Amino acid sequence: MEIIDTILKINPNYIIIGLLAIFFTLEQVSGTPFSFKQRGYHLFQNILFQIVLMILNIFFVSIQVYCIDWLNSSEIGLLYLVELPFWSKLFLSIVLYDFTTYWIHRASHKIPLLWRLHRVHHSDTTMDSSTTFRFHPLELILIYQTGNILTAGIFGTDVTSMALYYFIIYIFFFLEHSNLNYPKWLNSTFGLIFVMPDHHRVHHQQDQFYTDSNYADILIIWDRLFGTFKMMPVEKMKYGLIEFDSENKQSFLYLIKSPFINIKRITREPKGKSKTE
Ligand SMILES: [Zn+2]
Ligand SMILES: [Zn+2]
Repeated sequence: MEIIDTILKINPNYIIIGLLAIFFTLEQVSGTPFSFKQRGYHLFQNILFQIVLMILNIFFVSIQVYCIDWLNSSEIGLLYLVELPFWSKLFLSIVLYDFTTYWIHRASHKIPLLWRLHRVHHSDTTMDSSTTFRFHPLELILIYQTGNILTAGIFGTDVTSMALYYFIIYIFFFLEHSNLNYPKWLNSTFGLIFVMPDHHRVHHQQDQFYTDSNYADILIIWDRLFGTFKMMPVEKMKYGLIEFDSENKQSFLYLIKSPFINIKRITREPKGKSKTE
């Protein structure tokens, strides 16, 4: 209990900034699997997303917490039907937040309106730890934070478990997006249960066949269970989306307005030809 209190007392923005500093430095000083130019410019563009999100969240997280507290005080949700020890309920709640996020993420790839917001995250042609920040703020607020409220309404999960879930997910986010070499045996051990960088790299691959896979954030078991798990050799990867593959389409300003622009999705044929759908 004490450890949870300690974690929850830290301002989440400090944790996020601290994680970025650690991962960004590691990428800078160690050998990386993907070569990279203009790291400073790339970092700056991605940080702008996080600044906007932080400002909006002063208001929106309060609403989210208010809604979940209200659902809990009315004892709405499946977990209220059973008597569970504190730690089991906490563990189960974190798993359930991860479970719904998997399905929302999967839907974001299939529903055109949601894809307009989500493609901002996939637009990054040079992925590193700062890609963690590259989400359209409207996606995180309207889709994912509403999804958390929905999780609380269906399952009866609370704000404490949600805060811990976000603490864990941000560690995973930075790890998954990081441009770092790591021992490959981790893929066949921890990677059976947890999302590893190589899994998420496949998710950022340009070919839609691969983009539409490995949706999980913490537990890769969702992809293994629901048939969306895919792997490919890391050396062959090309990140991003063809329709965003030019310098002017990588800027914060363009990306922030991109959900309101009609941009055709371009998929590549196996022989290297391109086609639009
Ligand atoms: Zn995605
Ligand atoms: Zn990602």
